[in-house]
Amino acid sequence: TMSPTIYKSAYPDADIPQTSVFTRLFASKGPGDVGGFPGSSSAFIDASSGTTLTRASLLDLSLRFGHGLRTHPALASRAKRGNTILIFSPNSLAWPVILFGSVAAGLRCTLANSAYTPAELKHQYTDSGAYLIITTDEGLGVVREMLGLLGVPKKDADRRIVITTQDLRWAGGPGAKPSVDVSTLVSMEELLKAGKLGQEEKFEGALSDETLYLCYSSGTTGKPKGVESTHRNIQSLLSIVPATFLRNGPEDIILSILPHYHIYSLAQGLHLPLIYNLPVVIQTRFEPVSFCANIEKYKITLSLIVPPVLVVLARHPAVEQYDLSTLKYLVSGAAPLGRDLVHQVKARLLAKRRPDQPLDIVQGFGMTETSPTTHLLPQADSERKIGSIGPLLPNLEARLLEDEDGLVDAGEGQPGELWLRGLSVMKGYLNNPTATANSITADGWFKTGDIAIRDAEGFYYIVDRRKELIKYKGFQVPPAELEGVLLTHPEIADAAVIGVDSVEEATELPRAYIVAANPDKVKTPEAKAAFAQSVAKWMETKVARHKFLRGGVAIIDIIPKSASGKILRRELRDSAKVEAKRA
Ligand code: AMP
Repeated sequence: TMSPTIYKSAYPDADIPQTSVFTRLFASKGPGDVGGFPGSSSAFIDASSGTTLTRASLLDLSLRFGHGLRTHPALASRAKRGNTILIFSPNSLAWPVILFGSVAAGLRCTLANSAYTPAELKHQYTDSGAYLIITTDEGLGVVREMLGLLGVPKKDADRRIVITTQDLRWAGGPGAKPSVDVSTLVSMEELLKAGKLGQEEKFEGALSDETLYLCYSSGTTGKPKGVESTHRNIQSLLSIVPATFLRNGPEDIILSILPHYHIYSLAQGLHLPLIYNLPVVIQTRFEPVSFCANIEKYKITLSLIVPPVLVVLARHPAVEQYDLSTLKYLVSGAAPLGRDLVHQVKARLLAKRRPDQPLDIVQGFGMTETSPTTHLLPQADSERKIGSIGPLLPNLEARLLEDEDGLVDAGEGQPGELWLRGLSVMKGYLNNPTATANSITADGWFKTGDIAIRDAEGFYYIVDRRKELIKYKGFQVPPAELEGVLLTHPEIADAAVIGVDSVEEATELPRAYIVAANPDKVKTPEAKAAFAQSVAKWMETKVARHKFLRGGVAIIDIIPKSASGKILRRELRDSAKVEAKRA
């Protein structure tokens, strides 16, 4: 047999320390120093109030929060190294304190989408085995309802919750009060007051392979699974991304709008900036006007985005109302980025600038399972290699396979499924050896389910997806999950969900195909349309917003399936294209 074609990163190897991530980010190298930079420099800034956490205050509050988790009478017995806490909160200034405080205490964090419904949250809460939920007054209702679904009595339920505010104001002094009665709950404020850990929990040598984060991803198939990211995985990210991600100058400042519970923002928005001493302005949620206003207000130079943000920059009127000329560097990831959109944004923004105010828009590639970033286009190549996700980052290896079994390498310049190997690859899916074995080969290759091309200079292009996953604006929409929900509808006999492309919104939209349980009731076009509409509305009561059936609902006689019962998604995608033309 022929030996496989293995592509190695062209960058020199990077050193990947085998210590706790916390030690790497915060260890003092001299008086006043926090993780290699002055403790007085800004780490995180709350966009709406301007409240700033310096590196030193972030370290102090994290050690306090960790101490609170370890010693509070209601929590101490459960705060054992390796136990899991669940964070259920939109972006906030409290986020990095909760996260790094839990890490300092030696706990694992599972990060849940803050738009989840009680049923969605229940899956992650039970699957991860979390003993504690950290949430805001906004998330409290969903958390309580979720614990109710599990039959937990109210008194016990309250012992599983720590309540925090959006911007630490009631932790730090006078100001905001929670909007609901939280008197029966342990508050973050209380946990910060009692004392401080002398040092963080250490994870050295082989112990750095202990699991640190559990983000949820459906992978190539099925329902969301807990991705075990270790200290070493995150250390890998912190070591390899600097090969192409560079500071432009001392005035650099980042605007963080992507949700911190997704690994892209978790890693690149909360961890990486600390390695660069890059201040991060935290915006609770993406919204076009405040995004532009914050760029002007904080003289933002860099932002991590997803392609739909570029649609805003290309078309939204707010872009004309604010000075965005400080913005020099946009990194897009989580979904494919089209060349035309990049050109439209550059043309619009550069028209209002001097020639010495450039703008680079680059694309990266990553996955929850690869901690996340494995490819990032260097700024210098942003025009020359537009459309590319860049070369492979240091220490990583890649293969491109023609077939699903991984027996035939794709020819040079030909598309193939991207396989990746290196210290960035997750430990596995939590408590799911079957899914782990299906996605990581015995010799360590992780099968991405994405189809890529590698050009002669070693730049990669994502051209298609082999797996069933749908992405709405960068968010995962697992078809199997939506199909499961649809099948609980009393009038639906069978269902399949696929993604359809929306060029206008630069995203895929989930579209359902359903078979009526009573076909006689939905014979006429009018009856079909009414049924389809009622199903789409019904879904909005069952799932988080990003999973709404924005691509429509079609009623068909039978779901096309293979002999083994697998949904033939390719056929449905082809019919969707025909239906779109007709519409
Ligand atoms: P997640 O685990 O949520 O980050 O999703 C990972 C998936 O997002 C990948 O397997 C790809 O299908 C998709 N993805 C991420 N970045 C890109 C990109 N730059 N171009 C195309 N697809 C991407």
